[in-house]
Amino acid sequence: MTQPTAAMRSAMAGAAVGDDVYGEDPTVNRLEALGGELTGKEAALFVPSGTMANLLAIMSVCSRGDEYICGQEAHCYRLEGGGAAVLGSVQPQPLTFQADGTLDLGQVAEFIKPDDPHCARTRLLCLENTQGGKVLPLSYLAQAGELCRERGLSLHLDGARVANAAVVLGVPLEEVTRQVDSVSLCLSKGLGAPAGSLLCGRSEVVAIARRWRKVLGGGMRQAGVLAAAGIVALTREMSRLAMDHENARILAEGVAGVDELEVTWSSTNMLFIRVSGGREGELTAWLKARGILVGGRGSLRLVTHRDVAREDLERVVREVKGFFR
Ligand SMILES: *Cc1c(COP(=O)(O)O)cnc(C)c1O
Repeated sequence: MTQPTAAMRSAMAGAAVGDDVYGEDPTVNRLEALGGELTGKEAALFVPSGTMANLLAIMSVCSRGDEYICGQEAHCYRLEGGGAAVLGSVQPQPLTFQADGTLDLGQVAEFIKPDDPHCARTRLLCLENTQGGKVLPLSYLAQAGELCRERGLSLHLDGARVANAAVVLGVPLEEVTRQVDSVSLCLSKGLGAPAGSLLCGRSEVVAIARRWRKVLGGGMRQAGVLAAAGIVALTREMSRLAMDHENARILAEGVAGVDELEVTWSSTNMLFIRVSGGREGELTAWLKARGILVGGRGSLRLVTHRDVAREDLERVVREVKGFFR
Protein backbone atom coordinates (compact mmCIF):
# COMPACT_ATOMS: atom_id res chain seq x y z
CA MET A 1 0.00 0.00 0.00
CA THR A 2 2.97 2.32 0.46
CA GLN A 3 3.98 4.96 -2.07
CA PRO A 4 7.69 5.29 -2.95
CA THR A 5 9.36 8.00 -0.87
CA ALA A 6 10.74 11.21 -2.40
CA ALA A 7 14.26 9.86 -1.77
CA MET A 8 13.37 6.69 -3.68
CA ARG A 9 11.95 8.60 -6.62
CA SER A 10 15.03 10.78 -6.94
CA ALA A 11 17.37 7.78 -6.58
CA MET A 12 15.39 6.03 -9.32
CA ALA A 13 15.59 9.05 -11.61
CA GLY A 14 19.36 9.28 -11.24
CA ALA A 15 20.21 5.57 -11.16
CA ALA A 16 23.14 4.32 -13.26
CA VAL A 17 21.89 1.30 -15.21
CA GLY A 18 23.16 -1.50 -17.45
CA ASP A 19 21.92 -4.89 -18.59
CA ASP A 20 21.37 -6.96 -15.46
CA VAL A 21 20.83 -10.18 -17.44
CA TYR A 22 24.55 -9.86 -18.23
CA GLY A 23 25.29 -8.81 -14.63
CA GLU A 24 26.16 -5.33 -15.88
CA ASP A 25 23.75 -3.13 -13.99
CA PRO A 26 25.86 -1.29 -11.39
CA THR A 27 22.88 -0.33 -9.23
CA VAL A 28 21.51 -3.88 -9.11
CA ASN A 29 25.01 -5.11 -8.25
CA ARG A 30 25.21 -2.54 -5.45
CA LEU A 31 21.81 -3.62 -4.08
CA GLU A 32 22.77 -7.30 -4.20
CA ALA A 33 26.08 -6.61 -2.41
CA LEU A 34 24.22 -4.63 0.24
CA GLY A 35 21.63 -7.41 0.71
CA GLY A 36 24.39 -9.99 1.15
CA GLU A 37 26.17 -7.78 3.65
CA LEU A 38 23.08 -7.00 5.74
CA THR A 39 22.00 -10.65 5.96
CA GLY A 40 25.55 -11.97 6.41
CA LYS A 41 25.33 -14.10 3.26
CA GLU A 42 27.86 -14.53 0.46
CA ALA A 43 25.56 -13.48 -2.35
CA ALA A 44 22.15 -12.07 -3.21
CA LEU A 45 19.82 -11.97 -6.18
CA PHE A 46 17.36 -9.19 -7.03
CA VAL A 47 14.00 -10.60 -8.15
CA PRO A 48 10.64 -9.07 -9.08
CA SER A 49 8.67 -10.46 -6.13
CA GLY A 50 8.77 -12.30 -2.83
CA THR A 51 6.93 -15.16 -4.48
CA MET A 52 9.76 -15.61 -6.97
CA ALA A 53 12.39 -15.34 -4.21
CA ASN A 54 10.75 -18.18 -2.24
CA LEU A 55 10.21 -20.30 -5.35
CA LEU A 56 13.86 -19.86 -6.37
CA ALA A 57 15.01 -20.80 -2.87
CA ILE A 58 13.03 -24.04 -3.09
CA MET A 59 13.99 -24.83 -6.70
CA SER A 60 17.68 -24.17 -6.06
CA VAL A 61 17.84 -26.79 -3.32
CA CYS A 62 15.13 -29.28 -4.28
CA SER A 63 14.86 -31.24 -7.52
CA ARG A 64 12.02 -33.24 -9.03
CA GLY A 65 10.70 -35.69 -6.42
CA ASP A 66 12.10 -33.80 -3.44
CA GLU A 67 10.03 -32.14 -0.74
CA TYR A 68 10.14 -29.15 1.58
CA ILE A 69 8.60 -28.90 5.04
CA CYS A 70 6.68 -25.71 5.81
CA GLY A 71 3.77 -24.31 7.79
CA GLN A 72 0.18 -25.03 6.85
CA GLU A 73 -0.42 -21.27 6.65
CA ALA A 74 3.02 -20.48 5.24
CA HIS A 75 3.00 -17.97 2.42
CA CYS A 76 5.30 -20.18 0.32
CA TYR A 77 2.79 -23.04 0.53
CA ARG A 78 -0.62 -21.44 0.76
CA LEU A 79 -0.37 -18.14 -1.06
CA GLU A 80 2.04 -18.65 -3.93
CA GLY A 81 -0.14 -20.68 -6.29
CA GLY A 82 1.56 -23.96 -5.46
CA GLY A 83 4.55 -22.79 -7.52
CA ALA A 84 7.03 -25.29 -6.05
CA ALA A 85 4.80 -28.18 -7.18
CA VAL A 86 3.68 -26.59 -10.45
CA LEU A 87 7.06 -25.39 -11.67
CA GLY A 88 9.60 -27.32 -9.59
CA SER A 89 7.98 -30.77 -9.25
CA VAL A 90 8.69 -30.37 -5.53
CA GLN A 91 6.07 -31.53 -3.04
CA PRO A 92 5.26 -29.62 0.15
CA GLN A 93 4.92 -31.26 3.55
CA PRO A 94 2.85 -28.74 5.49
CA LEU A 95 2.66 -28.87 9.29
CA THR A 96 0.47 -26.79 11.58
CA PHE A 97 2.13 -23.68 12.97
CA GLN A 98 2.19 -23.37 16.75
CA ALA A 99 0.52 -20.34 18.34
CA ASP A 100 3.83 -18.44 18.35
CA GLY A 101 4.46 -18.85 14.61
CA THR A 102 7.08 -21.60 15.00
CA LEU A 103 6.93 -25.20 13.78
CA ASP A 104 7.35 -27.85 16.46
CA LEU A 105 10.86 -29.14 15.72
CA GLY A 106 10.07 -32.58 17.16
CA GLN A 107 7.27 -32.85 14.63
CA VAL A 108 9.52 -31.55 11.85
CA ALA A 109 12.03 -34.30 12.70
CA GLU A 110 9.26 -36.92 12.61
CA PHE A 111 8.16 -35.80 9.15
CA ILE A 112 11.62 -36.01 7.58
CA LYS A 113 11.11 -38.99 5.27
CA PRO A 114 13.33 -42.07 5.43
CA ASP A 115 15.64 -42.90 2.52
CA ASP A 116 13.09 -45.13 0.82
CA PRO A 117 11.80 -45.11 -2.76
CA HIS A 118 8.23 -44.96 -1.39
CA CYS A 119 8.92 -41.45 -0.10
CA ALA A 120 9.85 -38.09 -1.50
CA ARG A 121 13.31 -36.92 -0.43
CA THR A 122 13.03 -34.28 2.29
CA ARG A 123 15.58 -31.61 1.45
CA LEU A 124 14.48 -28.31 2.93
CA LEU A 125 12.76 -26.69 5.90
CA CYS A 126 11.07 -23.32 5.29
CA LEU A 127 10.30 -21.02 8.20
CA GLU A 128 8.64 -17.59 8.08
CA ASN A 129 9.68 -14.55 10.17
CA THR A 130 7.65 -12.67 11.07
CA GLN A 131 4.84 -15.22 10.80
CA GLY A 132 1.46 -13.48 10.97
CA GLY A 133 3.26 -10.55 12.60
CA LYS A 134 4.91 -12.80 15.21
CA VAL A 135 8.67 -12.68 15.76
CA LEU A 136 10.44 -16.05 16.02
CA PRO A 137 12.81 -16.22 19.02
CA LEU A 138 16.53 -16.31 18.16
CA SER A 139 16.94 -19.39 20.36
CA TYR A 140 14.31 -21.19 18.28
CA LEU A 141 16.12 -20.30 15.04
CA ALA A 142 19.32 -21.71 16.54
CA GLN A 143 17.56 -24.99 17.37
CA ALA A 144 16.06 -25.17 13.88
CA GLY A 145 19.51 -24.57 12.38
CA GLU A 146 20.97 -27.34 14.50
CA LEU A 147 18.24 -29.80 13.50
CA CYS A 148 18.74 -29.00 9.80
CA ARG A 149 22.52 -29.44 10.02
CA GLU A 150 22.13 -32.74 11.89
CA ARG A 151 19.62 -34.12 9.41
CA GLY A 152 21.21 -32.73 6.24
CA LEU A 153 18.40 -30.32 5.37
CA SER A 154 18.76 -26.80 4.05
CA LEU A 155 16.97 -24.07 5.98
CA HIS A 156 15.17 -21.26 4.15
CA LEU A 157 13.59 -18.27 5.81
CA ASP A 158 10.71 -16.45 4.17
CA GLY A 159 11.83 -13.09 5.43
CA ALA A 160 9.30 -10.88 3.67
CA ARG A 161 9.04 -9.16 7.06
CA VAL A 162 12.33 -10.16 8.65
CA ALA A 163 13.38 -6.52 9.04
CA ASN A 164 10.41 -6.06 11.39
CA ALA A 165 11.69 -9.00 13.45
CA ALA A 166 15.20 -7.52 13.69
CA VAL A 167 13.81 -4.18 14.84
CA VAL A 168 11.69 -5.79 17.58
CA LEU A 169 14.62 -7.94 18.75
CA GLY A 170 16.93 -4.91 18.64
CA VAL A 171 19.64 -6.83 16.77
CA PRO A 172 21.23 -6.44 13.33
CA LEU A 173 19.49 -8.30 10.53
CA GLU A 174 22.36 -10.74 10.15
CA GLU A 175 21.76 -12.05 13.65
CA VAL A 176 18.22 -13.07 12.71
CA THR A 177 19.40 -14.70 9.46
CA ARG A 178 22.58 -16.33 10.84
CA GLN A 179 21.16 -19.84 11.09
CA VAL A 180 19.54 -20.03 7.68
CA ASP A 181 21.06 -21.09 4.38
CA SER A 182 18.88 -18.69 2.43
CA VAL A 183 16.52 -15.82 3.15
CA SER A 184 14.07 -13.87 1.03
CA LEU A 185 13.76 -10.22 1.91
CA CYS A 186 10.92 -8.00 0.69
CA LEU A 187 11.83 -4.46 -0.32
CA SER A 188 8.30 -3.41 -1.16
CA LYS A 189 6.21 -4.01 1.95
CA GLY A 190 7.14 -2.23 5.16
CA LEU A 191 10.33 -0.91 3.59
CA GLY A 192 8.31 0.97 0.98
CA ALA A 193 10.08 0.33 -2.35
CA PRO A 194 7.74 0.03 -5.36
CA ALA A 195 8.76 -3.55 -6.21
CA GLY A 196 11.30 -6.27 -5.65
CA SER A 197 12.74 -8.79 -3.24
CA LEU A 198 16.19 -10.21 -2.59
CA LEU A 199 17.15 -13.85 -2.21
CA CYS A 200 20.32 -14.03 -0.12
CA GLY A 201 22.43 -17.12 0.54
CA ARG A 202 25.52 -19.10 -0.33
CA SER A 203 27.15 -18.26 -3.68
CA GLU A 204 26.50 -21.71 -5.21
CA VAL A 205 22.81 -21.58 -4.30
CA VAL A 206 22.39 -18.03 -5.57
CA ALA A 207 24.12 -19.01 -8.82
CA ILE A 208 21.54 -21.77 -9.35
CA ALA A 209 18.77 -19.34 -8.43
CA ARG A 210 20.11 -16.86 -11.01
CA ARG A 211 19.74 -19.51 -13.68
CA TRP A 212 16.17 -20.39 -12.63
CA ARG A 213 15.27 -16.70 -12.42
CA LYS A 214 16.05 -16.41 -16.13
CA VAL A 215 14.09 -19.59 -16.88
CA LEU A 216 11.05 -18.20 -15.02
CA GLY A 217 11.22 -14.97 -16.99
CA GLY A 218 12.49 -12.91 -14.07
CA GLY A 219 15.69 -11.68 -15.71
CA MET A 220 15.20 -7.92 -16.04
CA ARG A 221 17.37 -5.67 -18.21
CA GLN A 222 17.93 -2.18 -16.77
CA ALA A 223 16.52 -3.08 -13.40
CA GLY A 224 18.75 -0.55 -11.64
CA VAL A 225 15.83 1.88 -11.79
CA LEU A 226 14.02 -0.41 -9.33
CA ALA A 227 17.11 -1.48 -7.43
CA ALA A 228 17.84 2.19 -6.65
CA ALA A 229 14.62 2.36 -4.64
CA GLY A 230 15.56 -0.90 -2.95
CA ILE A 231 18.87 0.58 -1.79
CA VAL A 232 17.01 3.50 -0.22
CA ALA A 233 14.63 1.00 1.40
CA LEU A 234 17.47 -0.98 2.99
CA THR A 235 19.53 2.00 4.09
CA ARG A 236 16.87 4.46 5.26
CA GLU A 237 13.64 2.66 6.03
CA MET A 238 14.57 -0.18 8.35
CA SER A 239 14.85 1.71 11.63
CA ARG A 240 11.60 3.54 10.89
CA LEU A 241 9.69 0.24 11.27
CA ALA A 242 9.70 0.76 15.05
CA MET A 243 7.18 3.55 14.44
CA ASP A 244 4.84 1.15 12.61
CA HIS A 245 5.04 -1.27 15.53
CA GLU A 246 4.24 1.48 18.01
CA ASN A 247 1.33 2.63 15.83
CA ALA A 248 -0.04 -0.92 15.64
CA ARG A 249 0.14 -1.15 19.45
CA ILE A 250 -1.73 2.16 19.81
CA LEU A 251 -4.34 1.04 17.30
CA ALA A 252 -4.79 -2.30 19.08
CA GLU A 253 -5.32 -0.49 22.39
CA GLY A 254 -7.75 1.90 20.74
CA VAL A 255 -10.05 -0.78 19.36
CA ALA A 256 -9.60 -3.24 22.25
CA GLY A 257 -12.28 -1.38 24.21
CA VAL A 258 -14.99 -2.27 21.69
CA ASP A 259 -16.98 -5.19 23.16
CA GLU A 260 -17.81 -6.78 19.79
CA LEU A 261 -14.14 -7.16 18.84
CA GLU A 262 -11.48 -9.68 19.74
CA VAL A 263 -8.13 -8.03 19.01
CA THR A 264 -4.76 -9.75 18.71
CA TRP A 265 -1.49 -7.85 18.44
CA SER A 266 1.92 -9.48 18.92
CA SER A 267 4.74 -6.96 18.58
CA THR A 268 5.02 -5.79 14.98
CA ASN A 269 2.97 -3.93 12.39
CA MET A 270 -0.12 -6.14 12.19
CA LEU A 271 -3.19 -6.67 14.26
CA PHE A 272 -5.92 -9.20 13.72
CA ILE A 273 -9.54 -8.66 14.64
CA ARG A 274 -12.47 -11.02 14.95
CA VAL A 275 -15.89 -9.42 14.92
CA SER A 276 -18.74 -10.98 16.88
CA GLY A 277 -21.63 -12.31 14.79
CA GLY A 278 -19.29 -12.87 11.83
CA ARG A 279 -19.62 -9.23 10.76
CA GLU A 280 -16.03 -8.95 9.45
CA GLY A 281 -17.13 -8.32 5.87
CA GLU A 282 -19.62 -5.64 6.87
CA LEU A 283 -17.02 -3.81 8.96
CA THR A 284 -14.47 -4.03 6.13
CA ALA A 285 -16.98 -2.48 3.69
CA TRP A 286 -17.90 0.24 6.21
CA LEU A 287 -14.24 1.17 6.65
CA LYS A 288 -13.50 1.03 2.93
CA ALA A 289 -16.32 3.49 2.26
CA ARG A 290 -14.47 5.80 4.66
CA GLY A 291 -11.09 5.44 2.96
CA ILE A 292 -9.66 2.89 5.42
CA LEU A 293 -8.34 -0.28 3.78
CA VAL A 294 -8.41 -3.47 5.84
CA GLY A 295 -7.41 -6.92 4.61
CA GLY A 296 -7.63 -10.45 5.92
CA ARG A 297 -9.26 -13.80 5.34
CA GLY A 298 -11.66 -14.71 8.09
CA SER A 299 -10.28 -12.36 10.72
CA LEU A 300 -9.54 -8.78 9.70
CA ARG A 301 -5.91 -7.83 9.29
CA LEU A 302 -4.90 -4.23 9.95
CA VAL A 303 -1.39 -3.25 8.88
CA THR A 304 0.38 -0.04 9.83
CA HIS A 305 3.01 1.38 7.48
CA ARG A 306 4.98 4.50 6.56
CA ASP A 307 1.94 6.19 4.99
CA VAL A 308 -0.24 5.72 8.09
CA ALA A 309 0.36 8.62 10.46
CA ARG A 310 -0.27 8.74 14.21
CA GLU A 311 -3.24 11.09 13.60
CA ASP A 312 -4.84 8.55 11.27
CA LEU A 313 -5.11 6.00 14.09
CA GLU A 314 -7.66 8.04 16.02
CA ARG A 315 -9.82 8.26 12.94
CA VAL A 316 -9.69 4.49 12.43
CA VAL A 317 -10.76 3.91 16.03
CA ARG A 318 -13.54 6.49 15.68
CA GLU A 319 -14.90 4.88 12.50
CA VAL A 320 -14.77 1.38 14.01
CA LYS A 321 -16.75 2.60 17.02
CA GLY A 322 -19.13 4.42 14.67
CA PHE A 323 -19.93 1.14 12.91
CA PHE A 324 -21.19 -0.43 16.13
CA ARG A 325 -23.21 2.65 17.08
C1 LIG B 1 4.07 -10.78 0.65
C2 LIG B 1 4.72 -11.99 1.12
C3 LIG B 1 5.41 -12.82 0.24
C4 LIG B 1 5.37 -12.66 -1.28
O1 LIG B 1 5.71 -11.45 -1.74
P1 LIG B 1 5.18 -10.91 -3.16
O2 LIG B 1 6.18 -9.84 -3.45
O3 LIG B 1 3.80 -10.41 -2.92
O4 LIG B 1 5.24 -12.01 -4.14
C5 LIG B 1 6.05 -13.93 0.75
N1 LIG B 1 6.02 -14.20 2.07
C6 LIG B 1 5.36 -13.43 2.94
C7 LIG B 1 5.38 -13.80 4.39
C8 LIG B 1 4.71 -12.30 2.51
O5 LIG B 1 4.04 -11.56 3.39
